[in-house]
Amino acid sequence: MLARLARLAQLAVLGAACGTASVAAPREDDSDRPAPLDEMMVATHVEFDPTGDVIYKLQDDLGFENWNIGVTLTQPPGLPKIEALRIHHRAAGQRHQTVEFDAVALSTFVDPSARTPGTLPLRNLHFALPAALGIDEVEVEVRAAGKTTGRAIARLHAYEQRGKYRLPMRGCWFVSSGHDFGTEHRRHLGRGHFAWDFLRVDWNGQTSSGPALEDSYAYAQTIVAVADGKVLAARDDLPDSAPGRGRGEANFVEVDHRNGEISRIVHLRPGTLRVHAGDRVWAGQPLAEVGNSGESDTPHLHIGFHKRGDQVHPVPVNFSDYTVRWNQGTHTVQSGRPRRGQFVCAD
Ligand SMILES: [Zn+2]
Repeated sequence: MLARLARLAQLAVLGAACGTASVAAPREDDSDRPAPLDEMMVATHVEFDPTGDVIYKLQDDLGFENWNIGVTLTQPPGLPKIEALRIHHRAAGQRHQTVEFDAVALSTFVDPSARTPGTLPLRNLHFALPAALGIDEVEVEVRAAGKTTGRAIARLHAYEQRGKYRLPMRGCWFVSSGHDFGTEHRRHLGRGHFAWDFLRVDWNGQTSSGPALEDSYAYAQTIVAVADGKVLAARDDLPDSAPGRGRGEANFVEVDHRNGEISRIVHLRPGTLRVHAGDRVWAGQPLAEVGNSGESDTPHLHIGFHKRGDQVHPVPVNFSDYTVRWNQGTHTVQSGRPRRGQFVCAD
């Protein structure tokens, strides 16, 4: 039973949309045993987004792990209104923690852009628990009219990084967004997930000396390759956005590091690419300059990584051999994730 459940969990969908249930509830939770799905007349269809095989948990340096899930609930006609969603955090098949969201709380997670009739797309359900718990599964339980009407389980994965990457610039930069718990590129699922934004600031914390793009300390700074590889795709024909008015597509460069991982740097300054698709590059090689093309309000360097063939689901990686400067001195990081608010430096 559990093996079958695990297999189905990989599909990340246990709810039966057609009304005939195919899976019984897990047996280990005697304390709060839900109604078996096969006793239900109809069931809420529960689908993870992203799908269960690309939900990555991240460990911070305070002993916590965090994850961010989205689920889309589809309610067949005739089913009572969803009144609550329970998220059970599990390790080795045991529930260790449950969070319940009532209908009001759930409404704050609805993504209107993903909404189609009859569906409830919930996004950015973001949690952190002690790493020592070893949470490896998230179970979603839908409650309606006092009963469980849908259920799905997804596995949490720790991403196994393949490459070793230097920072994509030289000198000291300010991390304006990383993907620590609660920061922009962790909160928002999608293409910007697990990315960083690097800015340059002066000693007063200002990012520019005036209102023009050219006044920005990051503008026209050199971007370098994070590791050896081959340029997969690049463009630099799009104009910079005016400060504070970022929109549209951005100039970018993607490097395939030949280990299944691809780095993608965006908002390049127009006309500054020094490489073309197909070129071989080495770690530290200048690629282009920082600009403000696309959805960028101020010139900055945005970088993220994804697996070859799957641009939609970015992956979390560490950078190697950089220095963190802060008010109590500096320290060298052999492998780590620059965090929002840090100053990070590389040669
Ligand atoms: Zn960004």
